[in-house]
Amino acid sequence: MFALHCKTLNSTPSMPAPQILFTPGPLMTSEGVRKAMMVDYASRDGTFLRAVKEIRRTLLDVAAVDHNEWAAILLQGAGTMGIEATINTLTPQVNGKYLLINTGKYSERQRAIVKHLKRGLVEFTVGEGEEIDIAKLEELLKAHPDITNVGYVFHETSTGMIYPAETIGALVRRYLPNVVIIVDAISGFGGIPLRVPDACDALITSSNKCFHGVPGFSVVLAKRSVVEAKKGNSTCLTMDLQRQLAGFDKNGQFVVTPPVHALMAFHQALKEFQEEGGLEGRVRQYKQKADIVVVAAKAMGFELFLHEYKPSFGNIVVALKMPVHPLWNFKKFYTFLNERGFVIYPGKASHAETFRFGIIGATTAQNVRDVMEASREALASMGITNLKDLPAPNSVDTSSS
Ligand SMILES: *Cc1c(COP(=O)(O)O)cnc(C)c1O
Repeated sequence: MFALHCKTLNSTPSMPAPQILFTPGPLMTSEGVRKAMMVDYASRDGTFLRAVKEIRRTLLDVAAVDHNEWAAILLQGAGTMGIEATINTLTPQVNGKYLLINTGKYSERQRAIVKHLKRGLVEFTVGEGEEIDIAKLEELLKAHPDITNVGYVFHETSTGMIYPAETIGALVRRYLPNVVIIVDAISGFGGIPLRVPDACDALITSSNKCFHGVPGFSVVLAKRSVVEAKKGNSTCLTMDLQRQLAGFDKNGQFVVTPPVHALMAFHQALKEFQEEGGLEGRVRQYKQKADIVVVAAKAMGFELFLHEYKPSFGNIVVALKMPVHPLWNFKKFYTFLNERGFVIYPGKASHAETFRFGIIGATTAQNVRDVMEASREALASMGITNLKDLPAPNSVDTSSS
């Protein structure tokens, strides 16, 4: 038994062949980011605590918010846990009423959390991939003066759509100035321009979307006064944002064990973010990479799920409609790319058949050209030159399918 155990858990692991990820989280990280995880730090180590302080300060800089009015709260776990912690901390236990602008898959997560936490819920449903009807939203705000919180998603990663955060923020504040606005900006913050104070009172992002870190913690940027007013409101002890912030204020430390390696990786990732031109640099990079996907995909006859010239088209992921060509086989396409070291994002929007190329992450423009070339070869292997060219009806053998 013991010998077998030793054999399985070899202490010098062989490196598997690197994969190029076109998935929007977990995503490709740079070599520098991975190397930053090679050193162990204790949670009270000076170098580590300075890194945490710099991370928190830099995030407020990226958000362009007042450092006295706003705080960056880091919380262990996935991005969704940051959302849950924020909703639980900032939605009143008594008479809390959460208006959810439901735009798709990631809004559904907020919905599930609000329901689970037994807070009141009002929903404003927007069709997937459709623009928000602002006049209708205005009607709903007028009809519900008892709303305490508004939640929405800035960029829906399932479709690639951006929602008008500043417009939503201004509208909510016009009718309900005391409402606490929560935005899931997990896949948009750091990659899409956003006037944070106009959009919300609390914003959630994570270590491994537009900042290209590794998974391990979420980031909540919140107005201090809003968080501090909610002492004791969270029904969860370890995911209480008010306690977490109080901990940082007291000694700059996490309340319980921090994900040190992920934080050191993020510290390096933020350095690279700034070296590559900060937010503007990311916007430029993503636009360039998304354009390569869009042009190549259209040339192969794929159709985009969203209209690429609208301002709501994000360059974070490119969603393509699942082709209906009789020779098309998504599983074959996915496997063909996988065997060549490329991983795409097969998950789909709830209502539409789509698949996606993730643009964010430390992939290069050349990596993107390579995966599009491999996509062309994958189509060719199925006998497809262009998805718009349908074969003559009698040339397709339907007996085998
Ligand atoms: C990735 C993502 C999440 C979830 O993040 P996890 O780290 O997987 O929990 C939530 N919302 C949006 C918009 C995302 O893109």
